[in-house]
Amino acid sequence: MSRDYYEILEIEKSASAAELKKAYRRLAVEHHPDRNQGSKEAEEKFKDLAEAYNVLSDPQKRQMYDRFGKEGLRGAGFSPGFSSVDDILSNFGNIFDDLFGFGFGGRRTRTRSGPRRGADLRYDLEISFNEAVLGAERELELAHSVRCETCNGSGMAPGTSRKACTRCDGTGQFMQSQGFFTIATSCPTCRGEGSLIETPCQDCSGSGRQEKQSTVAITIPAGVDDGTRMRLSGEGEAGDRGGPNGDLYVFLHVIPDERFVRNGQDLHLEVEIDFVQAVLGTTLEVPLIDGQREIDIQAGTQPGDTITLRGHGVPNLRGYGKGDLIVHPIVLIPKKISAEQDDLLRQYAELRDLEVRKKKKGIFGRRK
Ligand SMILES: [Zn+2]
Ligand SMILES: [Zn+2]
Repeated sequence: MSRDYYEILEIEKSASAAELKKAYRRLAVEHHPDRNQGSKEAEEKFKDLAEAYNVLSDPQKRQMYDRFGKEGLRGAGFSPGFSSVDDILSNFGNIFDDLFGFGFGGRRTRTRSGPRRGADLRYDLEISFNEAVLGAERELELAHSVRCETCNGSGMAPGTSRKACTRCDGTGQFMQSQGFFTIATSCPTCRGEGSLIETPCQDCSGSGRQEKQSTVAITIPAGVDDGTRMRLSGEGEAGDRGGPNGDLYVFLHVIPDERFVRNGQDLHLEVEIDFVQAVLGTTLEVPLIDGQREIDIQAGTQPGDTITLRGHGVPNLRGYGKGDLIVHPIVLIPKKISAEQDDLLRQYAELRDLEVRKKKKGIFGRRK
């Protein structure tokens, strides 16, 4: 899919969250697979709509998409698309609930009784300021459920098969007459599936899942910020009896740096200089995020002046272009000076014809 998300949803770039939801609902209903049975085109369109809505309904993703496009989302580890219609309905199905009630949401009901998608997981990861700016490889220790290897998620002991449910004669439903009406209800024994596992897998007691401690390796792209959320598709909880896995969401928390302050892609750094260095100029060693560098302080530097080191800021999430490092010299006025320094400054004041306070006896004499 290459079309613009706003184009797909037929909305303006400035559309509000409410307008966005309304547009998505209208188009998704139109292209809903239940209404367009067997149409591959409608299904594709339905997936495109869900992908666009998935991104634009999340303020953070929307902002990233507006600035960097789909590449930016990919760079941050988001995969906005959906693999199947069921996947979409389990995420956004509630949007249709009030529209179709039980009937149209039938697909969801089927999903509920058949293999279910695994739950999403959240993992909060603290990273250093440097890791956020430079990127990092990290390994997450994760306790989650995975597909049972013994039965490959089916829940059945190897070599066995399902047997027809005797309670509902394999139909999955009961027909009950109430007056003039015949009401169909799901069979509670087989949960409407019509068949049952005859011999449950011993290793997972028939759930198709096993609890496991595993290590998930993630690549944190250079340029992420505090609050960036990464989605690792399929790394969440295993689905119920062979259903698709949930996703793992990694929330990044960046520990502030003692030296650098970040503002978007620029970094700011304060360095202290003596007022004499501001007057006469000097060279200073300043830290960079990945090393250090000597900079020139011009003679006559004023409080509030800055020095910009181009390209020493935070990289763009798309992988090219960097912000700047902006150095703020803080001009210090000494609070205590020696008698000798005092004498020299008085000479200076005299040369500039400056009125200054008279010397107090005893104060500067201590050191000598
Ligand atoms: Zn098993
Ligand atoms: Zn049954």
